[in-house]
Amino acid sequence: MIKNYIRKDLSGFQPYEPELGQYPIKLDANENPFKHSEVILNEINEFTKDPFNLSRYPDTTSSELKKKIAKYWHFKKENVVCGVGSDQIIDCLLKVLIEPGDKIVMPSPSFSMYKHSTVLNHGVPIEITLDEANNYAYDIEAIIKITNEQKPKALFLCSPNNPTGNILSNKEIESVLKAVDCPVIVDEAYAEFTHTTAIDLINQYEHLVVLRTFSKAYGLAGLRLGYALGHKDIIDAIKLGVPPYNLNAFAQFVGQIIMDYIDVYKSDLDVIMKERDRLIDIINKLELVEKVYPSEANFLLIKCKKDTIAKGLKEKDILVRDFSKHPNMLNCIRVTIGTEEENNQLIQALKSLE
Ligand code: PMP
Repeated sequence: MIKNYIRKDLSGFQPYEPELGQYPIKLDANENPFKHSEVILNEINEFTKDPFNLSRYPDTTSSELKKKIAKYWHFKKENVVCGVGSDQIIDCLLKVLIEPGDKIVMPSPSFSMYKHSTVLNHGVPIEITLDEANNYAYDIEAIIKITNEQKPKALFLCSPNNPTGNILSNKEIESVLKAVDCPVIVDEAYAEFTHTTAIDLINQYEHLVVLRTFSKAYGLAGLRLGYALGHKDIIDAIKLGVPPYNLNAFAQFVGQIIMDYIDVYKSDLDVIMKERDRLIDIINKLELVEKVYPSEANFLLIKCKKDTIAKGLKEKDILVRDFSKHPNMLNCIRVTIGTEEENNQLIQALKSLE
């Protein structure tokens, strides 16, 4: 009965529900494998010492957190908006941009929420296929051409791209920004694992929004905290779609602590990047592997010789993301870089599946 009331265009639409379950080695969601350091955990404990932190509504504008983020990037508070993960910012932005039937251009394969949120917000996703034979590199000319032809309300770019791991240079992003008029959203959820950011371009381009998250490099996936940086006008537009009190008080509190101690995370990031390079070398040589795509993120896209590897790893208590049936990623799995020990266990498990 209730089905009759659901929007007709959502028939066949699936909820976003990644695999759950307890796996001793969890390498499926690109989380940070390390524990937060003692200094951070001690600061976090302060939260409950003030009972009003729980009983009062949080600051609905996340003002103190935005100040710290803005200071770090040499912007003003008005250039920042915070969300319940960058997922929420994607949704809020699409909410205020899309009128029914408007188009949104995005790469494919890429982060699934661009499409998901576009459809939920009555938009039409226009996917630009990244070429597997070219390591899924962005074709800048094609992006510009399709965007100008389709006249979308926004263009998403993801760098490093999830799940392919490749990046866009600022030169490439700039050539897109110069050639298209619509808002360009550069999702940098994994930018801490590489050495480039489009944030440097914000001052010159009013239609650029850069998305960042605390979920990956800063190990805060459980608290849900992301933000966008951009010109005041586009940030004000996103704010129109943000629900009241979106960020709970604890997430705001911990986000501020992380901004205060951001350098503490550098050593974790160095280890992850070193482990990434070590894993690429080793996994590339395995018998069951056809190819490991170059990656500048905290995960690897691995093309295997069969489509049963994710299942085989799961039986050995290792959860990875299975893309093996995706038409543009046949036989591929995506593996998060874990601790050295987890990575060694992954290598052993892969060897045993040969
Ligand atoms: N962008 C990309 C490219 C991602 O991979 C993810 C998480 N998988 C997100 C955004 C969302 O991150 P969060 O909502 O946790 O900030």
